[in-house]
Amino acid sequence: MSSGAYVQSDVEKRKQISIRGIAPVENVSNIKKTFNRHLHYTLVKDRNVATPRDYYYALAHTVRDHLTGRWIRTQQHYYEKDPKRVYYLSLEFYMGRTLSNTMELEEIEDDAGLGNGGLGRLAACFLDSMATLGLAAYGYGIRYDYGIFAQKIENGWQVEEPDEWLRYGNPWEKARPEYVLPINFFGRVEEKDGKKKWVDTMVVFAMPYDSPIPGYGNNTVNTMRLWSAKAPNSFNLRFFNNGEYINAFFEGKELRLKQEYFLVAATLQDIIRRFKSSRFGSRDPVRTSFEAFPEKVAIQLNDTHPAMAIPELLRILVDIEGIPWERAWAITVKSCAYTNHTVLPEALERWPTSLLETLLPRHLQIMYYINHLFLEKKFPGDEARLRRMSIVEEYGEKKINMAHLAIVGSHAINGVAAIHSEIIKSNTFKDFYEMFPDRFQNKTNGITPRRWLLLRLGDGPVPAEGAEAENKMKLAEYIKTTYNIEVNLSSIFDIHVKRIHEYKRQLLNCMHIIHMYNEIKKDPNKAVVPRTIMIGGKAAPGYHMAKLIIKLITQVGSVVNNDPIVGDKLKIVYLENYRVSLAEKIMPAADLSEQISTAGTEASGTGNMKFMLNGALTIGTLDGANVEMREEMGDKNIFIFGMTVDEVEDLKKKGIIMRAMLRFNPLLWSKMCLHNIASSGKFSSDRTISEYARDIWGTEPTEFKLPAPHESPLEYNDSPDAAAAKK
Ligand SMILES: *Cc1c(COP(=O)(O)O)cnc(C)c1O
Repeated sequence: MSSGAYVQSDVEKRKQISIRGIAPVENVSNIKKTFNRHLHYTLVKDRNVATPRDYYYALAHTVRDHLTGRWIRTQQHYYEKDPKRVYYLSLEFYMGRTLSNTMELEEIEDDAGLGNGGLGRLAACFLDSMATLGLAAYGYGIRYDYGIFAQKIENGWQVEEPDEWLRYGNPWEKARPEYVLPINFFGRVEEKDGKKKWVDTMVVFAMPYDSPIPGYGNNTVNTMRLWSAKAPNSFNLRFFNNGEYINAFFEGKELRLKQEYFLVAATLQDIIRRFKSSRFGSRDPVRTSFEAFPEKVAIQLNDTHPAMAIPELLRILVDIEGIPWERAWAITVKSCAYTNHTVLPEALERWPTSLLETLLPRHLQIMYYINHLFLEKKFPGDEARLRRMSIVEEYGEKKINMAHLAIVGSHAINGVAAIHSEIIKSNTFKDFYEMFPDRFQNKTNGITPRRWLLLRLGDGPVPAEGAEAENKMKLAEYIKTTYNIEVNLSSIFDIHVKRIHEYKRQLLNCMHIIHMYNEIKKDPNKAVVPRTIMIGGKAAPGYHMAKLIIKLITQVGSVVNNDPIVGDKLKIVYLENYRVSLAEKIMPAADLSEQISTAGTEASGTGNMKFMLNGALTIGTLDGANVEMREEMGDKNIFIFGMTVDEVEDLKKKGIIMRAMLRFNPLLWSKMCLHNIASSGKFSSDRTISEYARDIWGTEPTEFKLPAPHESPLEYNDSPDAAAAKK
């Protein structure tokens, strides 16, 4: 690109407020006015006493105002056109920050950390792509008071601190106390004239909080609706204090099951309310309303966590709407689809029937009935198969296998990368694949380029390597100020960031560090390519082995980093508190991406894709999406090592794992980087979501491009959704 008037200086860029996901700011003086108005009226501060946080909040409110017209218009459009709605149900939405700009204010925003890792971040990327593709989609989740803990490393050990992300309020969300819904728990099942009724329940309320999800370049603004638990007023007046009642209710071993049902029950009430107010629901007298339900509603289950949606939908259709079982079952299966995210047996959900018996007695009956109809009836006499496929596990403590429930109750089941989808069919759910071959699909994961394309190639006069060097310098500064470690800018930034888990093999990386250290010590004069190895990630608080791995890495690091013989040939940095906003700092500065899970264990991985998109080379195993990344870029442009899935299966007897040799030739390296970036297109979540829409949801991106609000002023009447809710 030529230099001159069109090339903005960095300083100019920094002054400009650019907001992710919405059209460029059209009218700077209007924005300034709105900003000042919010500082004055919303935050009640003047310029003398306002803190940077006040400025951040004033800016956030200004941006939200800018989205509001588009948001209302989009929802009106959905109400009028009544397209098929997609409901993405997830116990996690790992959103990170909403406001992005080049100013310091960005750092004030707390991450919305309502997730643990890949699964929750996938849900966030999917929301972005669904809005960008113009799908009438909703994210439904839980508004946890605390996000994932903040990780501190003290004396090499992980220490967890609560993440009070709502401490200063959340400027992006809109509370909707007027749409509170009751959620039932406990109680018993009554039978009257052959009809079942769930009675004497305990009630908790679900209050929705809505956040806007702007599409890129299309004026679509979808909704993420998160439910917050509130105690009913009647309890308030009795001996329970509001907060204490809720805190006591959502506590203990069954907390997770309560949360799962809470999300499902609130969301299904909302879905059915919206369906009934649509043309195909009660408004159309010609059609039997619920027959059209699967044509108007797609419910995607992000893992089995929201799989109680299956018995809950059946309960509503049969017990409340009075639909015969056979029809209710067909409606449920056609509406629901299940994404499997792992084959690790310890991560497959199983709920004790004793717990369900007390907490959700009617749902337990329904699940027994599903099991009876669809398994016991189908395989009379084949005891072994019956036991393998049963929704009810009878060995040891009696449990409900949630994956089996989700498979039987869904019309589509998908894995998240080609290799993973094959493993599911040939191994994990083999019997189910034989029974329902047409239900099994693959949808290789993706990431949204709007958040993750961080390395801006050819932006102005700075060539690719120049941009990379600048990003490395920024990360080096962060490391210097945060950990007081000097890193060698010409070293390879070798990065391994993800949750700490044995299958992800941070230990293998640690062994390699020890090996490199020993090599340097053996022959200090030998020429080596200097490396800075950065490892980061949180360990689950109760996962002792993962915490030991962190301790080992940090201890090895302190030996390596303080050895004068090593100097700047090798440095180890533990990146504390790995989270979305830290990932955004790391990805564009990486040279080498570590994706070294044991073949057959990482279902897809998405961290691998973020690195690829930003030009880092991958050292990895033939696992998850690495396999497809290699297909896209060609095997000359990736460092693959270790065993294949089949060899791992054989090995569970012998073995040694060799690490790939890095060919370090700066020119070749740059070439490989460009091959990586240029072939990363497949891993956009826009591609993933287009496939879900076509093959699972049966939806089309809506054909319209909404005009921006200023082109066609809004009439501020009641939102149609709101009007419908009041009926
Ligand atoms: C992308 C991402 C992950 C997932 O990383 P994997 O390497 O696929 O496990 C986890 N945490 C954060 C913060 C992420 O951004």
